[in-house]
Amino acid sequence: MKDLFFDLDHTLWDFERNSREALREGYYLHKLVSFGVNDVEKYITLYEKANAWCWSEYQSDRMDKQELRGRRFSLALEFCGLNGNTAEELKEIGEKLGKHYVETSPYKTHLVKDALEVIKELSKRGHRLIMLTNGFEEVQHIKVKRCGLEPYFEKVLTSDALGIKKPNPGIFKLALDSVNSRVEDAVMLGDSLASDVVGAREAGWGQVYYNPLGVPHNEDVLYEVRDLKSILDIKLNK
Ligand SMILES: [Mg+2]
Repeated sequence: MKDLFFDLDHTLWDFERNSREALREGYYLHKLVSFGVNDVEKYITLYEKANAWCWSEYQSDRMDKQELRGRRFSLALEFCGLNGNTAEELKEIGEKLGKHYVETSPYKTHLVKDALEVIKELSKRGHRLIMLTNGFEEVQHIKVKRCGLEPYFEKVLTSDALGIKKPNPGIFKLALDSVNSRVEDAVMLGDSLASDVVGAREAGWGQVYYNPLGVPHNEDVLYEVRDLKSILDIKLNK
């Protein structure tokens, strides 16, 4: 039997759907129309753009966790063309929206298609399941609990708690030690080619790349699937 290390966001937990639901609620709760943001869909699109930029700053250690939370929202509002507000006002509403978002989105429970069935089956087959996620400790644990995955996972390991992010080789070593696993037993399953798949390959682990859109690439990958159910067809023990 193998030790299966799963990524969470975009692999099992339907990040887009859950996130957009929370963003829509924040938009109405904080009455962004009164600030001149008239189109909720446009707001969500611009937020996603602002968030991607802030995350890349965070990943490169140019922005800290605290700043990231509000900044992606104030930046989204700037992208929406809010110019009648001072920087201080934008910062304030950004922080309110950021607080609402982190208090709401982790409680959303939409999973990627067949996620729960596949996890249950892998667990039934005797594999050990461990979550290995780049994310905040307090947020990722809530997600796993609320969406019903918790009973099947031996441990939830976050980059936040381990102090190091995928694909840094150090996190794969720490993950093995945390659950007394071995390189030859470990398989990483995730949707990020760089963080999950190449990271795990470089650490000597097996890898399953979940690539739902079939994005072309030139990496050497052990297994690749377009839907989660296909994981069940892989002879993981070989
Ligand atoms: Mg992911």
